[in-house]
Amino acid sequence: MNEFAGNQHIIEVIYLVASALFILSLKWMSSPTTARHGVWAGEIGMVLAIAGTLLHHGIVDYTWIAIALVLGTIIGVPLGMVQMTAVPQRTALSHAFGAFCVTLVGTAEFYLRTPNVPKFMMSVLSIEVILGALTFNGSLMAAGKLQEVLPQRPITYKGQNVVNLTLLAIAIGLAVYLVLNPGAKQFFPIILGIGLAAGVMMVIPIGGADMPTVISLLNSYAGLSAAAMGFVLNSKLLIIAGALDGSSGFILSVIMSKAMNRSFANVVFGAFGQVQTSAVAGEEAKPVKSATAEEAAAILSAANKVVIVPGYGMAVAQAQHKVRELFDALSKRGVDVRFAIHPVAGRMPGHMNVLLAEADIPYDRLIDMEDVNGDFPQTDVALVIGANDVTNPAARTDKSSPIYGMPILDVDKAHTVMVIKRGMSPGFAGIDNPLYHLDKTLMLFGDAKGFVGNIVRELGGGH
Ligand code: NAP
Repeated sequence: MNEFAGNQHIIEVIYLVASALFILSLKWMSSPTTARHGVWAGEIGMVLAIAGTLLHHGIVDYTWIAIALVLGTIIGVPLGMVQMTAVPQRTALSHAFGAFCVTLVGTAEFYLRTPNVPKFMMSVLSIEVILGALTFNGSLMAAGKLQEVLPQRPITYKGQNVVNLTLLAIAIGLAVYLVLNPGAKQFFPIILGIGLAAGVMMVIPIGGADMPTVISLLNSYAGLSAAAMGFVLNSKLLIIAGALDGSSGFILSVIMSKAMNRSFANVVFGAFGQVQTSAVAGEEAKPVKSATAEEAAAILSAANKVVIVPGYGMAVAQAQHKVRELFDALSKRGVDVRFAIHPVAGRMPGHMNVLLAEADIPYDRLIDMEDVNGDFPQTDVALVIGANDVTNPAARTDKSSPIYGMPILDVDKAHTVMVIKRGMSPGFAGIDNPLYHLDKTLMLFGDAKGFVGNIVRELGGGH
């Protein structure tokens, strides 16, 4: 075996191990108990994939690679340190970088190969570039909306879906022409431009509340474009990793849409998430009952069964460790405390599981929505900490509500409801929550971390 063949053999083995690690990583990440292994497997798989690529015989000079490595590290390290609540927009930025890379590689490959591009190659190149450009701009838009540097509200106009679909149809038509005539270089920049424009046009009508679902869909596109790049570069590893990314992103989008009782078409074309100023303004006038930390502590310690409902506000306030102290203090008094987990509480799937696990709250105390909902009528106190939309009974009763039909946690069926939030601001969907005006509801106004800390102190717990 000559040196080149030997090298190629080693690279293939490294890629095979990396592919297996990517598959195991996804498998392990599906359960909180094995999730850390999943992260490790993914990281090692990625290091192996990079190492295998660096051994490639085609590399004649490592200078540019070294520069790219330094640049990537400079951008990547701070991105890895963002707050948990900013992870959706951080993820969108990662997709944008990946898609940018895919688009650049696709463009370079086209100009290197034209006019001699076989039909199959030109087809995957077109898919790679259209999806890559769309995902690049779409992800930047999504990150901008979530970071609130761009307006969150949907921007819509008459005939918008027709315009978007026509744009895509033109891109596909030109791509077919290029497959048949790969020398028609002049059409390539048009395909690229339409991909970039489609990324902006398809994300502007989608409201902030749907952005996490859109990001997961863009994740899927990024994966598919990477898989297409794998065909172009003849890399099985890229095909496998791209297919895993594409399918898992798609499955996640479907799960999120289901949890909000929305169809995919409704998320992508529905212009959901408009801020409903009238409902919010009307809310000020309705009366609510409020209570102090001392009163809340007395009610909680007299209860037998308490269900805590965490939401986005607990995440922003970083209150999970105080919540753990509350769990300890109440458990010590013999109160049965469990946590109700809504699949889209917070700003990303699994957001609450991650935070509560970080505070070492036992997994068996975390109960999924469908399993806990039947228990609320026998629950003495439902303590809602910074959650809003996921507890909104209008989703069950008000046909005109934008969240009508979304499965919610039935906290209003508990004997007493206590809600910790800072004021009467709406949640992410921007709508009024009738839960706050029920006779059985007590509002505990304050920052989640501070208020829970005060209750713990009243209970004589904490550090
Ligand atoms: P939410 O409806 O966004 O409400 C969060 C509440 O927390 C707000 O009403 C806010 O009220 C309160 N809050 C904010 N900061 C706080 C602090 N420091 N201390 C105490 N309270 C604080 O949250 P959610 O119930 O978790 O619902 C999640 C929303 O995101 C849903 O609309 C869901 O559809 C959407 N979404 C989530 C995902 C996902 O994957 N998780 C995906 C797509 C969409 P104040 O300002 O009055 O304090």
